Amino acid sequence: MGCLKPRITHLENKCGHLVINVHFVTLLTLLYIFAVDANHNNEGFLPWPLEILKHDRNHVCETEECKAAATQLLQSLNMSVDPCEDFYEFACGGWVERHPVLPTESHRNQFDIVMEKVDLELKEILEEAEEPGEPSPVVAAKKAYQACMDTDYLESEGLDPLLDIIGSIGDWPMASDSWKEENFDWQNAIAQLNRHLGLSPLVSLIVYLDRKNSTGSVITIDQTSLVLPRSMLVDPYTYGRQLEAYRRWIVGSAMEVVKARNASVPATRISVDAFEVIEFEIELAHVTTPSEKRRNAYRMYNPMTLQELQQMTDSVQISSSHAKIHWQQYFEAVFAGVDVTLSPQERVVVKEVQYLSDLVTLLGSTPLRVIANYIQWRLVMTLGKDTTQKLRELAFNFDRVYSGTKEKLPLWRECVFVTSSMLSFAVGYSYVSRFFDIEAKKSALQMVENIRAQFSSSVSDVNWMDPATRQVAQDKAEAMKELIGYPDWYANKSALEVYYNGVSVGRSHMRNVVSLKTLMMRRILSKLRVPKDRTEWYTSPDVVNAYYNPQTNSITFPAGILQPPFFSKGRPEALNYGSIGVVIGHEITHGFDDMGRQSDRYGNLAQWWSRATIDTYLEKAQCFIQQYSMYRVPELDELLHTEVMMNGITTQGENMADNGGMRQAFLAYKKYVADNGPEQRLPGLQQFSPQQLFFLGFATVWCESTTKESLLQEVLSDPHSPQRLRVKGTLANSEDFAHAWNCPAGSPMNPRNKCLIW
Ligand SMILES: [Zn+2]
Repeated sequence: MGCLKPRITHLENKCGHLVINVHFVTLLTLLYIFAVDANHNNEGFLPWPLEILKHDRNHVCETEECKAAATQLLQSLNMSVDPCEDFYEFACGGWVERHPVLPTESHRNQFDIVMEKVDLELKEILEEAEEPGEPSPVVAAKKAYQACMDTDYLESEGLDPLLDIIGSIGDWPMASDSWKEENFDWQNAIAQLNRHLGLSPLVSLIVYLDRKNSTGSVITIDQTSLVLPRSMLVDPYTYGRQLEAYRRWIVGSAMEVVKARNASVPATRISVDAFEVIEFEIELAHVTTPSEKRRNAYRMYNPMTLQELQQMTDSVQISSSHAKIHWQQYFEAVFAGVDVTLSPQERVVVKEVQYLSDLVTLLGSTPLRVIANYIQWRLVMTLGKDTTQKLRELAFNFDRVYSGTKEKLPLWRECVFVTSSMLSFAVGYSYVSRFFDIEAKKSALQMVENIRAQFSSSVSDVNWMDPATRQVAQDKAEAMKELIGYPDWYANKSALEVYYNGVSVGRSHMRNVVSLKTLMMRRILSKLRVPKDRTEWYTSPDVVNAYYNPQTNSITFPAGILQPPFFSKGRPEALNYGSIGVVIGHEITHGFDDMGRQSDRYGNLAQWWSRATIDTYLEKAQCFIQQYSMYRVPELDELLHTEVMMNGITTQGENMADNGGMRQAFLAYKKYVADNGPEQRLPGLQQFSPQQLFFLGFATVWCESTTKESLLQEVLSDPHSPQRLRVKGTLANSEDFAHAWNCPAGSPMNPRNKCLIW
């Protein structure tokens, strides 16, 4: 396939003949943009021309990486904006103009661009013929991808595999002319969907680390996940458009199923059933706890035995016998095929006690037909896109309204996504061996150490913590386990075979999806009696993201994110500290945000803070809540016919992580300069000091174009602030930023009131 993406890092080894052309283009762009830059220098925001005179050419980095970084930055900036007025617009204005949302997407940002690059690389791997000696899970991934791409076979198979599953769990009333209530056991149905697909239409059951006992796992019961965001469902008048699109999706899918089985069901009947399905989901939404009230891990830790759980739900008055939940039976159905014996004394943790009682009441007042329609809909909705063109079309029509996308993604991207999520470590194995620069792992590790050391040193300076709590915080930062690039067990090729032992892939894509997800679920469920491993990877190495896991006190930086624009060798470290450095600082800070602070160095829920320190902390957290709650999202006013504000409560953890991460990365960068001497400037951008480059590196990571619909989803259910506000909110709190950019006190980017925790 040759070179997939003309990036400098890959040019040398993969398509050297393109190097000259690319460099020529780079040079032209530099000249062009430098001219633009000169025009804007007259606008007088900063004394840049004078700054340039002070720096001779020895202080300018002329490496290819620096030229590439300079080109990208120059294309990103909008120099007609005063950086002290709106730094996001200053740093990203040009980027946004050059990167409109593609018709197939609902947003376009730096992460999307890197993901697209990674997807092309995965496509290259998956489309290649089987190689001798290749691990069998990688071969399975190639076969799974081929099956997904084989649309002729998918169409010839039609909905048969889906109908088999629908039939096996009691049939779908709204798409059947012979549904019988007595054949439908809703508990068995949701148990099968959990066991085979990991779905949780009414109750979520998962085996996960025990939050108070670091040695093992526990069965954790939680409220259901919903299809639409809770806030949309509980406010159907505001979100009528989305609910109508949702209804059409349900009706259309049911009609397809009716057609496939040659049944005779009146359209009016299907329509009424679809309304009832949505009404039921709205009622479910009302009994779930909203995310802003799910930030206290202690409230959500309610251990009890299976027997006590049974007594608890039995104590709810019910008007209909089908509402009784037989927990032992349900658990046994989920764990069928897993080598685990469950007694009435099995310990479980219930996250939302009230939800279970309310669910029983709701089920008691809901006809079984509606419950069956809803459960089967969740199945059809999940697997429909893995069947025919028609069902994929229906899902896309919903997405068009929900996310604002105009065209479907090409099938190969869907197939790369499905394959890499089902066989993530097999696909990730090939990705890492082919595309990951091992040097990046070493550099990332070094930076983690630098920023962690900085965090510890900053903690020792905070005056609002008592000394004992301060010491425990430092211990926690030191104990944080870092997972970088890929799992260590990749070194042992046979470990991959063991991990995917029993994997089987055939020609039917949908059957592959079911069997691979079943295998995945079995692996999760069988961990119930296995001691906890803090070094376990929960994410695929090709993912372009980073994580903090409070249960294990570990941070993960997969190979996917250790590349430009987040990280690159040979360019000023200011840019690396501003981008991947901030990402690392962000994840470390999560260990100390409003939720992370609730667990100790081993990931156990433990109160290691003194009361006085907690009180001060809560005051400081309140500052962030207020700051971000004041931010408006005017792009959405028209869509919702009201003034839309940010939710400072649900985003507080991420906002604290953004703020702490940026601050710690900047301090670590200053230390780097103190140890290694001042850095060079970028060609064509000599007016910017290395410290200013740090802030540009930070802000440009968050440049984004987005549809209004996607922005709405972010505001309603994303724990992160919209990207523009991640930049603005973080920098407005930073004295370092204000100083580096000479922003007058009281200017929009340097307000007098600032929030600070870490
Ligand atoms: Zn985060």
